[in-house]
Amino acid sequence: MIPEKADVPTIDLDEIRRQAWAAPCPAPLSDTERQALRERIKQLLKDRNAVLVAHYYVDEELQSLADETGGCVSDSLEMARFGHAHPAETIVVAGVRFMGETAKILNPEKRVLMPTLAAECSLDLSCPADAFRAFCDRHPDRTVVVYANTSAAVKARADWTVTSSIAVKVAEHLHRQGKKILWSPDRYLGAYVQEVTGADMLMWQGSCIVHDEFRADALKRLKAEHPEAAVLVHPESPPDVIALADVVGSTTQIIQAAQTLPNDTFIVATDRGIFYKMKEATPGKTFIEAPTGGLAASCGSCAHCPWMNMNGLANLADALERGGPDHEIHVDPAIGREARKSIKRMLDFAESLKVQATGEANVASPA
Ligand code: SF4
Repeated sequence: MIPEKADVPTIDLDEIRRQAWAAPCPAPLSDTERQALRERIKQLLKDRNAVLVAHYYVDEELQSLADETGGCVSDSLEMARFGHAHPAETIVVAGVRFMGETAKILNPEKRVLMPTLAAECSLDLSCPADAFRAFCDRHPDRTVVVYANTSAAVKARADWTVTSSIAVKVAEHLHRQGKKILWSPDRYLGAYVQEVTGADMLMWQGSCIVHDEFRADALKRLKAEHPEAAVLVHPESPPDVIALADVVGSTTQIIQAAQTLPNDTFIVATDRGIFYKMKEATPGKTFIEAPTGGLAASCGSCAHCPWMNMNGLANLADALERGGPDHEIHVDPAIGREARKSIKRMLDFAESLKVQATGEANVASPA
């Protein structure tokens, strides 16, 4: 019999990296062009009864526009939730494709547009649906838990979809029930969850090409130069980088940590797009990028997702103006229904945690 770990498919991460670095940056804009596009987008959002939701990793130009127009800037799950609760008929997602798909899965009756459908994610690319389904079929005794950074078809095969903010809680819950987990696609997030929970997890071997670049040796040196700084690390980073963290958390948890910790300086190991919201949430504090192993994005910068970087004002305006096959997200309805079940399981679980927390607070409050 083949040992379980031996049949985990091999991923060609170098090929995925090549694709990432080939992603085109938006053309630079003059101030006049930029201003004109911002005004046009604001008008189009009204005319099309649309709302803009942006991820923390996209350019701050788009984050500020989402804020100014009554949209939201958040992580992938909150983006989809916000779009669901908002009365607009069209949701415009500035982020990468799986985020647009998640918005469509949760809002099948709404139109979902994106500045570009070519904005991929290395985790999504490293988990092709056919190979993943075959892998799951070979391990029917395991509960299938997938990260949100996956295609609709992969979510449809899963029992649970989780985000980084709730992955540990879900694994703890399943572990307590004596269940064994098949985890995909992020090997580092999976290893972190396994270490924290002690759950039995069979791991797919995908990784985020951006977080994969952070380097522990260089981070140790930076820490020594800034002993006053707290180190905030996203769990998609390599284990030796996570080991140096004061706080390990999702994007939203990293922003919250900067608000609540007493430190004035933070070394941050995640995409530098998050600095816009971190600075806004904590004026006066200082943020330093954690060191990477080299040039991370196609534009030659560090710690910035080349696919998130494909979102710009010009293609956002084009999405609103023309829509169509270059911009509109479609999810096969049958796949969408199945994928929705695995996402809903997480949302219901998250809600039950809130209820438990509220219950505890209520018990404590009379004292
Ligand atoms: S930063 Fe990493 S996980 Fe996020 S979209 Fe880019 S490649 Fe995917």
